[in-house]
Amino acid sequence: MTIETIGVIGLGNMGFGMAATLAGKGFRVSATDISDARAQAAADAGIRFTTLADLLATSDAIVCSLPLARDVEAVVTTPGGLLDRRDRKVVVIDTSTSDPGTSRRLAERLATVGHGLLDAPVSGGPSGAAQGTLTMMVGGSEADFALALPVLSAMSAKAIHVGPSGAGNIAKLVNNLLVAAHLVTMGEAMRLAEGAGLSAQEAIAVVNTASGRSAVSEVMFPRWILTNSFDSGFSAGLMRKDVRLALELASESAVDLPLCAHAGDIWGATRDTIPDTADFTRMADYRTKDAV
Ligand code: NAD
Repeated sequence: MTIETIGVIGLGNMGFGMAATLAGKGFRVSATDISDARAQAAADAGIRFTTLADLLATSDAIVCSLPLARDVEAVVTTPGGLLDRRDRKVVVIDTSTSDPGTSRRLAERLATVGHGLLDAPVSGGPSGAAQGTLTMMVGGSEADFALALPVLSAMSAKAIHVGPSGAGNIAKLVNNLLVAAHLVTMGEAMRLAEGAGLSAQEAIAVVNTASGRSAVSEVMFPRWILTNSFDSGFSAGLMRKDVRLALELASESAVDLPLCAHAGDIWGATRDTIPDTADFTRMADYRTKDAV
């Protein structure tokens, strides 16, 4: 069973690039979004914009790129949608950062009517989505992973089948909890460097050839923080969601994470100075903030 027609739900910073990438690689792509502005953007890019009902009825595979788990649940369980469709097996590739419990529940529900759902969250940002070079961490059955592989390969430089349903989201939450904490620690470390008389540029040049480096120091600082551009395309609000989901997962798993919990408190306490709509890299702005 091959996948020729793909429906993309959510044409935001990530979904728009994914839709364009899939169309550019020969799939028949249609897309939908609740925002009228995104319909215009799709039209400008030559992407077929349609209704959710049409997309659910006609796609061989569905790619979701939505803010919250409850948004994914709403589209997957839309009355008259996938749960009532019997003409072929449809695989949902959920690239949203979501919670493992919701992914497992939705995968089980879809399986009762013969469809599949992979939790396939991504790393690589809007540029990775637009260039088809994302890293995807995928949870779900071997059979669904194999069925979706042509789509996953088109969107990513690397698609890792991590384990059963929910495993992709566990991996993503672990990753983003680290990024959230690294942004706090790098911002503080650069405040220390500057306070003690070494510029952030000089300090980072050393850190990036030494053992303190991370994607925050190697990629985010040079691109978005030292340049003062703060335009990575990932919002502080979505990062707060990821931190919340990761700490909820820790609590459900009876795991104590004192330092990460403190980082989570810092993300929560900075809503006034770094609103949800701000770029998430603002958290590491060592110039403007006192210690939080
Ligand atoms: P975004 O806010 O830019 O886009 C989300 C889009 O979904 C919006 O256009 C919105 O109108 C649409 N939408 C919301 N509810 C909908 C619904 N019920 N039906 C149809 N459309 C709906 O968000 P984003 O930055 O593109 O992120 C999307 C997902 O990818 C999130 O789960 C995020 O955590 C994750 N993610 C983002 C990045 C990034 O760098 N931006 C990186 C990795 C993962």
